[in-house]
Amino acid sequence: MPSGVQTEVKTYQMFINGEWVASQSAKTFPVYDPSTEEVIAQAPDANAEDVNRAVSAARVAIDDGPWSTTTAQERGRVLFRLADKVRQNLAALAELECRNTGKPIVEAEFDINDVATCFEYYGGLATKITGSVNPVPDNAMSLSLKEPVGVAGQIIPWNYPLLMAAWKLAPAIAAGCTCVLKPAEQTPLTALEFAKYFADCGLPPGVVNIVTGFGETCGAPLVQHPDVNKIAFTGSAAVGKIIVKQAADTVKRVTLELGGKSPNIFFADADFEAAIDGALFGVFINQGEVCSAGSRILVQKSIYKNFVEAMTEKAKKIKLGPPLDRDTKMGPLVSKEQYERVNQYLEIGRKEAKLASGGGRPDKIAKGYYVQPTIFYDVNNSARIAREEIFGPVAAVIPFDDEKDAMKIANDSPYGLAAAVWTRDIFKAMRAVKSLRAGIVWVNHMQPTYVEAPWGGFKQSGFGRELGPWGIEEYLETKQVHINLNEAPIGWY
Ligand code: ADP
Ligand code: MG
Repeated sequence: MPSGVQTEVKTYQMFINGEWVASQSAKTFPVYDPSTEEVIAQAPDANAEDVNRAVSAARVAIDDGPWSTTTAQERGRVLFRLADKVRQNLAALAELECRNTGKPIVEAEFDINDVATCFEYYGGLATKITGSVNPVPDNAMSLSLKEPVGVAGQIIPWNYPLLMAAWKLAPAIAAGCTCVLKPAEQTPLTALEFAKYFADCGLPPGVVNIVTGFGETCGAPLVQHPDVNKIAFTGSAAVGKIIVKQAADTVKRVTLELGGKSPNIFFADADFEAAIDGALFGVFINQGEVCSAGSRILVQKSIYKNFVEAMTEKAKKIKLGPPLDRDTKMGPLVSKEQYERVNQYLEIGRKEAKLASGGGRPDKIAKGYYVQPTIFYDVNNSARIAREEIFGPVAAVIPFDDEKDAMKIANDSPYGLAAAVWTRDIFKAMRAVKSLRAGIVWVNHMQPTYVEAPWGGFKQSGFGRELGPWGIEEYLETKQVHINLNEAPIGWY
């Protein structure tokens, strides 16, 4: 075991208005290590009262507090300092993320590094938010100014806990907003650890508040709160739909990233070794708990049989084990609930298609929410395992005839987050790029994600874009200013 692993159950407090507090009800909920199924911490079970407290702190901070007059340069420096703190504490944060999510430690380290990179990116971008001058046909000066949207409510999932927090907090801080962040109830720990850096980094009280709690009792009051100007949500499509409805009464700005059922498309002329690798990486990285997972693997019929065989052979060698072991490639799923949900889909898959590998618990692991990397083949695109997001290590392999057939199957989905296409033919690749209805299209790769490039979906995968300059735009309002340069009366009456 690596050093520094805590053994006692720690009771966390949450962070509101620059202070560490319990929930007003004093209730807490347990947080687990999914590899041992043991409780590792207790976190405050926040309800509407706590949300009110956090929202008023955020409201005061942006309306009257020092944050309302903080310059873009100062906000940028705060973000750079946060990035430095994350890098200094990378090992400890990665270890905590690893223990709470069950993801392999090596992947957790990548994630935490990306967290720092995200804060650095938006630290630089803070001073590049500019307005413009509009060429109106009059003796006037017309301006477009960018202003922070106000208080942002941010609700995030459990698959990349601190990284999802970074994607939401960094652009909001850069834009000059204040935030109430609700981590997923399964994984609140790294966000709470992160909040310990705020004061040292010069983030005034109330600018970022973190409330820990459940969706219906803590998330919903945040969405409905009249003093919250915007909700940024990443999570399931089912909850995304609820949020849109709940946000309607206060006409809240909403951005949603709701996952998908992304096609990973392999033409016969693709590099075979790279293709097999890409198919496995696309769907099994992070235990398949990835919104952009390449969970529909479309393979051209002429290579189909060999492809399924090669994929199966390699999948069987993927090393499942304790998340803290450096050679582990796949840990447990995040929770009992997720384990049961994925197991239900394994049942469904057995009835809908043929099983090539996996399909249940690994034999040699007694405890923890482990599921083998599972490959179903001869899947029809109308099957539930091809239409519904499973969020686990379950691949649905679907054969196709030709380019036209591939595009038809790929686009036949309620989702449109991501897609990937593998071929050595540049014309075929570019035609696919053009016809795929997805917010992210990879060619001869799947999953690379960069803070410099936009992230978000088409269709029921949501709306709005995160990362890059697109991400900051979602935290800004545009104000039109008209300055009359004529000194004479309008002269109409
Ligand atoms: P999962 O089912 O995999 O847990 P969810 O979409 O339920 O995915 O969770 C994503 C985030 O949404 C979590 O932070 C969760 O607490 C929150 N959430 C769940 N239900 C609601 C709701 N009704 N209103 C607001 N937030 C919610
Ligand atoms: Mg849920």
